[in-house]
Order: sequence, then C-alpha cells, then structure tokens
Amino acid sequence: MPISRRLFVAGALSAPVLLRFGVLPAAAKAPVPTSQVLPVQQIKVGDAIVTAVSDGYLDLDISLLSNIEADEAERLLEQAFQDAPPVTTGVNAYVVHLPEQTVLIDTGGAGAFPQMGKLQDRLEAAGIAPADIDAVLLTHLHPDHVGGLVLDGKLAFPNATVHVHTAEFDFWTSIENRDAAPESARGFFDTARSAMEAAGDKVRTFDAAGEVVPGIAARELFGHTPGHCGYMIGEGEDGLLVWGDLVHAAAIQFPRPGVGIAFDGDPATAIATRQALFEEVAANRTRIAGMHLAFPSVGHVVKGSGDAAYAFRPSEWQYDLG
Ligand SMILES: [Zn+2]
Repeated sequence: MPISRRLFVAGALSAPVLLRFGVLPAAAKAPVPTSQVLPVQQIKVGDAIVTAVSDGYLDLDISLLSNIEADEAERLLEQAFQDAPPVTTGVNAYVVHLPEQTVLIDTGGAGAFPQMGKLQDRLEAAGIAPADIDAVLLTHLHPDHVGGLVLDGKLAFPNATVHVHTAEFDFWTSIENRDAAPESARGFFDTARSAMEAAGDKVRTFDAAGEVVPGIAARELFGHTPGHCGYMIGEGEDGLLVWGDLVHAAAIQFPRPGVGIAFDGDPATAIATRQALFEEVAANRTRIAGMHLAFPSVGHVVKGSGDAAYAFRPSEWQYDLG
C-alpha cells in the first residue's frame, strides 16, 4: 500500500508519543547480540530463487597474495574501510530453487576449516532439508567447496547427483598427482578423492561449457584449478553468474585484478581469467556471486575510478521476491 499523507499524519501518534504519556512500558535491556541471526538471503533470478548461504569465513594472511607489496595491500584494505590484515573472506554456497528441481552450488568447508561448516544448520533454519537437494554442482574440488559433501562418512545430500568438470575430477582423484604434490598440498587431494569416492556413481562429469541441469550452464573459468567452473543461472541481466573462486580478497583484487593468491594452481591463467571475466561482466552488466565475496556476495562489477581497475557494487536488498 502506498504511503498517503493521512496515514503519515496518523503515524505521528505512534510509539514515541504513547511512550511519553506512559501508555507503553519502557523496554527492558535486551541481551547484546553475539552472532548474526540467519546468514541466508533470497534473490530472485529469472524464474528461479537463489538462496545465498554463508558457510562461515576464512582469514587470509596477505603473504598468500602475489604481485603486490604488503604496504600496498594494507593501503587498499584501509581504502575499503577494512581492518588491517589478515583479510577476512566469506565462504558461501548457493541453493538454486528452479521450477523443476533444487540445486546446491558448492558445499562449504565442513571438516576442513574450523570457522566453516555452518551450511547444514543454516539450510535447516531456512527450511531446506538435505534430502530436498536434487543436484550438487561443484565449482571445483578444494576443501572449502567440497568439504560439506560428506559428513560423518555419509553423503550430506543423499538424493543429489554430483556434477563436476572432468578436468577437475581427473586432476584431484589422481594418485600420481597426489604423490607428486608437496606434502602440504596432499590433504587437498585426499579430501577431494574421498568425497568423489563417497559420491560414487552419483558423480556426473562434464567436459565442456553448457547446460548441466535445465536452467544452469557451466562456464569454464580455468586457472584457479584445472577444471574450475562458474555456473550461470538464467540469462542476461536477469541471470546470475556464480563465479566460484575468481576473487579471494575483494578489497585488493577488484582494484588490482593482477594480484594472485597462493591457492591458484596456475597463477598466470587464473589472473588472465579474472581480468577477462571482469571486463566481460562489467561490459554486459552481468550480475555475479562469488564464494569468497562478503556475504550475501551478490552484485555487479563496474569499472573503477582513479587507479582502481574495477570495483564491486553489492546488490540492493530485495524486498519482494514475487
Ligand atoms: Zn575457495
């Protein structure tokens, strides 16, 4: 109902006035909140509704970044009104409520990192049962994306097929690759392989860009990992490109897309992929979401001002999903 002048004037005789005349009791002191209420947010994307879910967060030491000096990284954080390092980055997952099925993109990092693993509780709080998920689409097989696929030795989403790019599956399930990797990286291989083994015949690999489930198309965004993919829900400006790990430190990598991170398997390709996609989504006004953007992590990339190459514009809150 639009606000009319009459309603507006009537509203003047509301709580503050009644309180002054002793009609309402003064409120008791409420407890000081110590956590967020419910870190999910719904977004309308064409015919679909996307529920963004925070699985937790990750603190990144700036020594993980490449192609930037520490004092420049700190200056960019300060410019973005962020605390001094480490850089706190979100870890998100997305439920896509399509007309025909319910899809989960990535599963968070349960079991892999202590500040993660909130996905299951938050799905339950949002009224989404694990058994309701028909398909899990994985952007890649790093532990903060595949860690929540298996909980206590069982598939966390028992009715879901599991979709991943062939290049990603082959790389992380190879015993030869695991044994050739440095000791510090072997845990990544072990987590990925045991998750894929647990999923067994529910795994569906794909080896090219294109539709993975009706309404969602894979986009090859290689570099971070060998088969890293984004997923495009819908089309055009109404659509949403969930771009996986294109960005880890938003305050630094939007203004300086040439900055890499130690988790990038092929740093040069990861940087080239990021620069090309920034250019494309900024030109096409494509709405994006990212696993490591601050929750709720949905918005647009725009050309930056001054010496910043690009900037991120978070989407406005959607009041009405109709
Ligand atoms: Zn990640």
